[in-house]
Amino acid sequence: MDGRHFRQPQGRMTDSMQPEETEMEEKIMVTRSSMPEFGEYMEEIREIWDSRWLTNMGVKHRELQEGLREYLGVENVELLSNGHMALELTLQAMNLQGEVITTPFTFASTTHAIVRNGLEPVFCDIDPVTYTMDPGRLEGLVTDRTCAVMPVHVYGNVCDVEEVERIARKYELKVVYDAAHAFGETYRGRGIGSFGDASCFSFHATKVFNSIEGGASCFRDGRLGEALYELKNFGIRGPEEVSGVGANAKMNEFCAAMGLCNLRHVGEEIGKRRKVWERYRGNLEGVEGLVLNAVQGDVEPNYAYFPVLFEERQFGASRGEVYGRLLEKGICARKYFYPLTNTFSCFRGKYDAGQTPVALHVSRRILTLPLYADLALEDVDRICRIILDCRV
Ligand SMILES: *Cc1c(COP(=O)(O)O)cnc(C)c1O
Repeated sequence: MDGRHFRQPQGRMTDSMQPEETEMEEKIMVTRSSMPEFGEYMEEIREIWDSRWLTNMGVKHRELQEGLREYLGVENVELLSNGHMALELTLQAMNLQGEVITTPFTFASTTHAIVRNGLEPVFCDIDPVTYTMDPGRLEGLVTDRTCAVMPVHVYGNVCDVEEVERIARKYELKVVYDAAHAFGETYRGRGIGSFGDASCFSFHATKVFNSIEGGASCFRDGRLGEALYELKNFGIRGPEEVSGVGANAKMNEFCAAMGLCNLRHVGEEIGKRRKVWERYRGNLEGVEGLVLNAVQGDVEPNYAYFPVLFEERQFGASRGEVYGRLLEKGICARKYFYPLTNTFSCFRGKYDAGQTPVALHVSRRILTLPLYADLALEDVDRICRIILDCRV
């Protein structure tokens, strides 16, 4: 998740800080980064010390690229410094102009990637069950200025990729998926990164798979790869040729090394997440006024998030009350995604969130609960008890 401001745990209460008997209940953050054993990472970075090749597409970069290509089941992977640059440079590499249809129920990055390319976001409402782009509303938003569609696989819920593709073909639109939440997932047995003209992942510290900071764009067309490769390195084509107005968005060798270590264990980590996810489900399923995220039949999930939608009247407490009560007990849940990107103050007066009423409804009621591989099941029970005790 992207909770940069309150993401990192304050550190465990160690014995030297607190005697055992009076140990306070540990704070629980919404997420906690997956890390390999210290020794495994040390071993992985030893070669970097020997070679002194710290960045600019070194050995670790190439190894991770190849490892991810295989793991994700995609034809091409271009590694980037983070997920945002993957989105932003993928759009730039496509040389687009005009409007991009997207959704406002996402992280700032999706909308910013569009706007920072000088493109105009057009906001499509979301499906009330999957929280992803409602394809039934997509076609009505296509104009002669539309150049691309940028849907988001929210919480790992897979977009209606068939409908998006059908409409995109009909109007000759590019499709770039924000797949930051969907690492490692498959839809009907096919790697989620293989859909659209490109799919972009984030390997930020808080995601299911991390390289500390990092990201990737996956695509079929090799020419897009060449453009991306240049754009992530200032647009440099050769020693004496700069052919594009690029950025600096290269993944360095230390991040790639962390990615290589974490990739070895990602299956295990997802397995542990699943246990946490199931515990939540067992505790909260069937409670009146709580809407849990639906499981999609054709998707191999990654258990990235546990969002709960609170219908105040039926449940007896609002999202805000539950959020506050958890915080009092040292538990950081997150209003994710809230606010909608089309209500950000940087866009004041530009967009009308009234045009995306389902997204508005969901963003005012949703709370994602702490979920990470090492979250103790007893803590899940405690979190659920606090939530259920909010009912009046
Ligand atoms: C994390 C995230 C991003 C941005 O990725 P970074 O690696 O943090 O730059 C983009 N979109 C969504 C939906 C995300 O969750």
